[in-house]
Amino acid sequence: MAERSGNGASPLVKIFGRLGSATAYAIRDFLHRSDVPFEWIQLATDDQARSQAGVDHLQDPRLPVCVFADGTRIECPTLRQITEKLGWFRTPSRSEYDLAIYGAGPAGLSAAVYGASEGLKTVLIERSAIGGQAGTSSKIENYLGFPKGITGAELAERAREQACRFGAEILLAREGVRGEFSAGKGTGYLADGTKIVARAAICATGVAYRRLGLPDEEKYFGAGLYYGAGASEALLTKNEHIFVVGGGNSAGDRIFAAPNVEVLTRTDITVLHGEHCLQEITLKQRDTGEERNAGTHWLFVCIGGEPHTQWAEEVGIVRDDAGYLVTGPDLLHAGQRPANWPLDRDPYYLETSVPGMFAAGDVRHGSVKRCASAVGEGAMAVAFVHRYLAHG
Ligand SMILES: Cc1cc2nc3c(=O)[nH]c(=O)nc-3n(C[C@H](O)[C@H](O)[C@H](O)COP(=O)(O)OP(=O)(O)OC[C@H]3O[C@@H](n4cnc5c(N)ncnc54)[C@H](O)[C@@H]3O)c2cc1C
Repeated sequence: MAERSGNGASPLVKIFGRLGSATAYAIRDFLHRSDVPFEWIQLATDDQARSQAGVDHLQDPRLPVCVFADGTRIECPTLRQITEKLGWFRTPSRSEYDLAIYGAGPAGLSAAVYGASEGLKTVLIERSAIGGQAGTSSKIENYLGFPKGITGAELAERAREQACRFGAEILLAREGVRGEFSAGKGTGYLADGTKIVARAAICATGVAYRRLGLPDEEKYFGAGLYYGAGASEALLTKNEHIFVVGGGNSAGDRIFAAPNVEVLTRTDITVLHGEHCLQEITLKQRDTGEERNAGTHWLFVCIGGEPHTQWAEEVGIVRDDAGYLVTGPDLLHAGQRPANWPLDRDPYYLETSVPGMFAAGDVRHGSVKRCASAVGEGAMAVAFVHRYLAHG
């Protein structure tokens, strides 16, 4: 079985692997979101594994194998190795930046474009692929200027190119894990040990998909269980039964009109089954308590997101009960500034309770969860960064 991604463009990478491999899924997802054309060759037998991928058998730990257009072969690669091979991995060129942005979704990409184009030494740090949630959307139909819609991956790739053209540095496959702030300077610590020092920072880390909360959920991630729409997997699910959990989307009318979609309301998934990958799920009807099992290799969970901002709590940045970062006027209570606020002015709009640390997009308390508003907040945050750098 072979499937291609990338609108018919010649594949830059061929991936040989077996169904239900979480590593292979992570690679497909990363390449799809990064708008890199690839070909997925699904191996089904030991013979195929030997003849096509050059490994001993289907369970060989060297799978998946990636072969790049120049013939380079990498066995069971990490995302970092892939970004290195694509020429996208870079080490920070400066010991100190004017602006560090965490998260390369619409808000972070927008902040990078505006920051770099307005002369700030700008670095953008992204733990995975560019585009964030928007990068996983097969079509964004309400973004200004694209009357026929645009794929999230294409929108993100265009923004990446634009940010780079203005001189923003983008560090991919790098996760911010901790921050420290002292007067006029912030230090971000990345998971790989890299330190990023900047005079101001914007947190644009959005939200991460919420989990079902079932036992063994982690075991099936990428091996039958996916969070979000899993756009990279769409071609592989042809003629198969797929299950999608979650009911909130504007496409409701189209769903009811589609003959091949059945809607089960007031139904929970209670158990996941399968030895190495997902093979079956248990469904429970809430009103009758009736349970039944259904066979499937494809379960897509779309039950909303939550911000991962534990790092902010550690440094005393004010969050709301759900973990979103509180900014600007929302920090004032009866006209009083937050405790520990050190300056003789109110926090700027989009500024958190630590001066010089801003938040933009979905991670911000009270934000409108839309691409255009995230982009707008990214641009707006940069305007306040200028004000902060000039006047404190
Ligand atoms: C399937 C889907 C379809 C959608 N369709 C539409 C649509 O049609 N129209 C519309 O207006 N909106 C749509 N939305 C909503 C829209 O995509 C979001 O509102 C928007 O992406 C929010 O942008 P953001 O930059 O704030 O955050 P996100 O898009 O969530 O991006 C945050 C980024 O930060 C990164 N990150 C997180 N933590 C760290 C860390 N510690 N270090 C480094 N990086 C980190 C993440 O990997 C991610 O790339 C859709 C959302 C989804 C999920």
